[in-house]
Amino acid sequence: MATIIDGKAIAAEIRREIAEKTKELAEKNGFVPGLAVVMVGDDPASAVYVRNKHRACAEVGFLSKGFELPAETSEEELLSLIKTLNEDSAIHGILVQLPLPRHIDEKKILLAIDPKKDVDAFHPFNVGRVLTGDYDFVPCTPAGVMELLRRSHIDVDGKNCVVVGRSNIVGKPQALLLLEANGTVTVCHSHTRDLARVCRRADILVASIGKPEFFDETYIKKGAVVIDVGINRRADGKLCGDVAFDRVFPKVSAITPVPGGVGPMTIAMLLKNTFTAAERSLQ
Ligand code: NDP
Repeated sequence: MATIIDGKAIAAEIRREIAEKTKELAEKNGFVPGLAVVMVGDDPASAVYVRNKHRACAEVGFLSKGFELPAETSEEELLSLIKTLNEDSAIHGILVQLPLPRHIDEKKILLAIDPKKDVDAFHPFNVGRVLTGDYDFVPCTPAGVMELLRRSHIDVDGKNCVVVGRSNIVGKPQALLLLEANGTVTVCHSHTRDLARVCRRADILVASIGKPEFFDETYIKKGAVVIDVGINRRADGKLCGDVAFDRVFPKVSAITPVPGGVGPMTIAMLLKNTFTAAERSLQ
């Protein structure tokens, strides 16, 4: 019988651990980790994500500061806020909710964040550190996938790992982390030929393409571990992943559900990165 990897429970366990460490940090050093969440405009999906991040911070005892700026905010105004936050010693992590309105250059904004406070790990400095395997922060979603594998006792060493998707925030860092864990890694994308055949070689398949229930049983090797990163909305309004769960389930040894798999881990990893940034600020 296949294991359903319970991301919700694992994320709750991580949050409990972080809450304990936060208490210790506060007792020993007199401060708690602080996260600034900056949102420009009123995208409803972003508003939900931001709310969840504040709630998660409160739960583990972090300070969280929200900056909800109007859509007309200029690039200069946003850069000036980031400069202030870079210099604020109570803030250890800065997160700018993407996407930003079109008139703001996303790259310029991400470059302005102090790499020591870049808890999303999107700054090129931190991207480079992930590449060399010498890092403090890893982008939250791929970090969450690795933590799910670790805590589910799924060993990556020597396994054939196939990552489908090559975005900067999921696919590419995911491939690097699996490689670091001694997986034999193949990265696929929209130009990959005979994708199903490549996926059928995977002992561990990470699906991150953003296409509802795209991967059916013909993509899966018997006994494979399937990690579904995709979050999509079906025509009936329900959330689903990139994997056709019911069709794939009889073939796998373990699988993450959507919702309740990778999703909850992303925020848990954001808390972990913020805690790390706070600890590093003591050095
Ligand atoms: P992007 O759109 O940036 O990247 C999608 C990738 O999938 C691209 O590399 C693209 O290839 C590839 N792709 C698309 N269609 C196919 C196809 N038919 N066959 C093979 N490859 C394909 O998406 P993200 O990486 O940002 O996100 C991926 C999914 O993960 C989304 O559903 C998103 O909602 C979800 N997500 C979930 C998170 C979580 O917390 N669980 C966090 C972040 C994202 P190419 O490069 O050739 O265009």
